[in-house]
Amino acid sequence: MTNPEFQDGIERADRITLGKAITLIESTRVEDQTQAGELLNAITTKTGNSIRVGITGVPGVGKSTFIETFGKLITSKGYKLAVLTIDPTSTRTKGSILGDKTRMEDLAKDPNAFIRPSASGGTLGGVTSRTRESIMLCEAAGFDFIIVETVGVGQSEVAVRNMVDFFLLLMLPGAGDELQGIKKGIMEMADGLVINKADGDNIKKANQAKAEYQQALHLFPPAESGWTTPVLTCSATDGTGIESVLDMILKYVAQTKSSNYFETQRASQAKNWLHEYFDQL
Ligand code: GDP
Repeated sequence: MTNPEFQDGIERADRITLGKAITLIESTRVEDQTQAGELLNAITTKTGNSIRVGITGVPGVGKSTFIETFGKLITSKGYKLAVLTIDPTSTRTKGSILGDKTRMEDLAKDPNAFIRPSASGGTLGGVTSRTRESIMLCEAAGFDFIIVETVGVGQSEVAVRNMVDFFLLLMLPGAGDELQGIKKGIMEMADGLVINKADGDNIKKANQAKAEYQQALHLFPPAESGWTTPVLTCSATDGTGIESVLDMILKYVAQTKSSNYFETQRASQAKNWLHEYFDQL
């Protein structure tokens, strides 16, 4: 495919073209990298107009169930959503094999959603060295929300934190953070903590966990954004509390846009991004 063809397809938000364009930028072949660089250059003025959300949490916390329910809420509001996610066939994490089920099946059928599983799970927990460029392509295709999913393994969170506007940490009710394998540093990076599986017998435990996390967050220094990290509870399976998660993100965006932090963070991310991009070539 030529770049004018790619551009045309991306402008029409054609999923197949968008998928092929992401494959092109992920390719390590020299010819592909040259073409990818030109394509990214050509679309750069059409990027930036989305809300970029990173979602993390240990395997089994309910990330794919949450993204499906949350994603359907987002598209029901008229937004277009792209999800850069973990390829279940390529990822084995902490003994759980994600490949035993199809992830986000319903959302995949939604005409306003685009789901792109990333082939290299492995050490970076689903984040590839080209996730940022994939975000750009999705933005050029007109997606309003971009979710980047990662497994809570540490390294990938830092990478994702540096490419999104809002970083969401999903937690389990009842288990202490050490049990959940979530490092304090990851909690500190989060703009919102959401305790999932707050349903049935878990409701009480989820509320207890909420109080504990709220206390723990008090001990952290105030964030540069001026934003106080909320702790919410939700159930990805029955949908309770999911709307509040969207409200939280929209409130964060409104608040940080009016304080100018949103743009400042984007600018500093873009600066690092360029450095890294050219370092990799
Ligand atoms: P992931 O590994 O983080 O992507 O987690 P999954 O979305 O695959 O969910 C792991 C398991 O937890 C599945 O059996 C889900 O059905 C279940 N699960 C996910 N969200 C909820 C929830 O809100 N409530 C309950 N009770 N179970 C959930």
